[in-house]
Amino acid sequence: MVRKFDFLVIGSGIAGMSFALKVAHKGKVALICKSGLEEANTYFAQGGVASVTNLLVDNFDKHIEDTMIAGDWISNRAAVEKVVREAPAQIEELIKWGVDFDKNEKGEFDLHREGGHSEFRILHHKDNTGAEIQDSLIKAVQRHPNITVIENQFAIEINLFESREEVIPVTLRFAVIPGWDAQQQNVISFQIFFAAFCNVMDIGNVFTKLFLNHFCDIFGITGVAAEKDASDSHE
Ligand SMILES: Cc1cc2nc3c(=O)[nH]c(=O)nc-3n(C[C@H](O)[C@H](O)[C@H](O)COP(=O)(O)OP(=O)(O)OC[C@H]3O[C@@H](n4cnc5c(N)ncnc54)[C@H](O)[C@@H]3O)c2cc1C
Repeated sequence: MVRKFDFLVIGSGIAGMSFALKVAHKGKVALICKSGLEEANTYFAQGGVASVTNLLVDNFDKHIEDTMIAGDWISNRAAVEKVVREAPAQIEELIKWGVDFDKNEKGEFDLHREGGHSEFRILHHKDNTGAEIQDSLIKAVQRHPNITVIENQFAIEINLFESREEVIPVTLRFAVIPGWDAQQQNVISFQIFFAAFCNVMDIGNVFTKLFLNHFCDIFGITGVAAEKDASDSHE
């Protein structure tokens, strides 16, 4: 069986699903996760999401400074600045995808202040913000006609090959779970235009936010993906 994709995303947390939703209007997306869509650290994040939303009392410089202090000045300042300055736009996108952040009686975000923050800037949904984000993104992903979800595939080997073409040949070896069995592996060969590995907690988040802009203007180019099952491509 041959299936065609333009984007390959591994991971169904906030990074993977938001990336899939951002690019899905440009082409076919394969969204792969090791078990079910809902199985991610994102689901368990209770506290909330930090973002400057009230410019009367808060600003980006304060948020950047708080973050650098909390990271004991070893955080990459360029990454911190980019994530902090782009946070309000990312919050807007989450809301567009269905995430419901709590508001006060004035209709403003009900902001909390948590450890390391000098201002009230934490958006939340009751005390289960992560579950609200995960559930909302799952619904948005399932509604999108261009996103194909491939569950129960634990990536154990990823080979990216050099190519002079627009597309990148990728070979992924998966263990099928549940019921881990080293003998029971799939090899899926893709030719895709862009691959995103969104499965490394904060690194995944930063990866998406930092690199997305660079690729957006060339996202129009499409590639193809050929998926084979283990029987015809296993070594
Ligand atoms: C208990 C808890 C509380 C937290 N509280 C907060 C908070 O209040 N505020 C906050 O900002 N952050 C909080 N965090 C951190 C936050 O949850 C993470 O930074 C964020 O969810 C990371 O998102 P992600 O999409 O990068 O990764 P994840 O949500 O972890 O998603 C990773 C995805 O990759 C998949 N995957 C992993 N390995 C493989 C593989 N080999 N093959 C295929 N798929 C794979 C997983 O199945 C999953 O779908 C908390 C974390 C925890 C655990």
